[in-house]
Amino acid sequence: MEKILSRNFDEKEPLDLSGFRDKGGYASLNKILGRPRNELIQEVKDSGLRGCGGAGFPTGVKWSFLAKDAPHPIYLVINLDESEPGSCKDREILYRDPHTIIEGVIASGYVLGADKAFVFVRGEYRIGAEKLEKAVNEARDAGYLGKNILGSGYSLDIDVHLSAGRYICGEETALLNALEGRRGNPRSKPPFPIVSGLWGKPTIVNNVETVSHVPYILTKGPEWFKGQGVNGGAGTHIYQVSGCVKNPGTFELPMGVTARELIFEHAGGMLEGRELVAFQPGGTSTPLMLPEHLDIPLTWDGPSTVGSRLGTGGLIVMDDSICPIDFLINVVTFYAMESCGFCTPCRDGLPYLVHVLKKFEEGTATSKDFDLVSELCDTIYPSTHCAHAPGAVMPVQGAIQQFKHIFEEHIQMKHCKYKGGL
Ligand code: SF4
Repeated sequence: MEKILSRNFDEKEPLDLSGFRDKGGYASLNKILGRPRNELIQEVKDSGLRGCGGAGFPTGVKWSFLAKDAPHPIYLVINLDESEPGSCKDREILYRDPHTIIEGVIASGYVLGADKAFVFVRGEYRIGAEKLEKAVNEARDAGYLGKNILGSGYSLDIDVHLSAGRYICGEETALLNALEGRRGNPRSKPPFPIVSGLWGKPTIVNNVETVSHVPYILTKGPEWFKGQGVNGGAGTHIYQVSGCVKNPGTFELPMGVTARELIFEHAGGMLEGRELVAFQPGGTSTPLMLPEHLDIPLTWDGPSTVGSRLGTGGLIVMDDSICPIDFLINVVTFYAMESCGFCTPCRDGLPYLVHVLKKFEEGTATSKDFDLVSELCDTIYPSTHCAHAPGAVMPVQGAIQQFKHIFEEHIQMKHCKYKGGL
């Protein structure tokens, strides 16, 4: 496998324009600009590239939804909000190789016929946003951005926008509201942004890792890209591992590696004397997977065979020193705090779910509380305006089945045996 997006990550400082060009950067644009757009969209479709922000929707298919006669201006919005706990791959590209992002935005913008691009950066990534802004200025001065890029007749510029900092702004329609200067609440769909997005204009929202792959697909070909994956995966993915492992970190690997390889080969394995109990494959909103799932390929489809999701590919590892209920309290508390408050099941239901889960830790829960946890999840899951609350309860719904014995143990023992653990 070739390292693609992380090929320059070993540099002490991010490469400036000349350093980036010396390593072949921006060379793709001479080959892409001027080619028929329908051909390019087909190549992106054929490559099997899917949205790396967590949804995993096929990118070429999404792009083909843009009407051929869509009115201009057409906007390309790059989602670099990345607020999902356990996920930091987009940050790595931003801080360590911002020109890779710009090359991806220009190539993707050309394929879509976009007039203007916005990169929406997570509020906490302020220094990264400054690095990107500097790279944008270098690229503009060299003729890679602005009017008539490299004499191709295509024009595009990039605005870097730093978020005020709110988890829900990573949801694509809340992000558009935030870009327009409104409160970052999700919008109703339809209309979908590709029809009526930023200021009512056709808008394509893509994750930053997704667009960064595009120059390589369009120059090396869809078959080459597919060949970088294993176990049915296409391309590479920047996986991250955090939690109870010896060597947490970020690893660009073939799409489709297994959790066993990630945890035990790349992340150094479990801490001394500890056993793996569960892991979340892609951030805190993804349902837990168990040790018997270690050999399932981490592709867009692999984890769904056991009711989970690949999400961002940010693996969070839990060992036998962690109480699964305490872990869930932590997760749901985060989502309760980050609710935008628009709908009651999310605004009021999630804090109530935390309250009930805490009873198990405090030793006051009864079997009725176990039923209540289940009922609350089943009520919250289908009845909210966006995927925020369903994402918060999905790990709990899984745990009710996977760790029923732990809930029962807490009820019987009237305390949490893990307290004072590690
Ligand atoms: S589910 Fe939560 S975050 Fe989403 S719209 Fe409703 S209140 Fe807001």
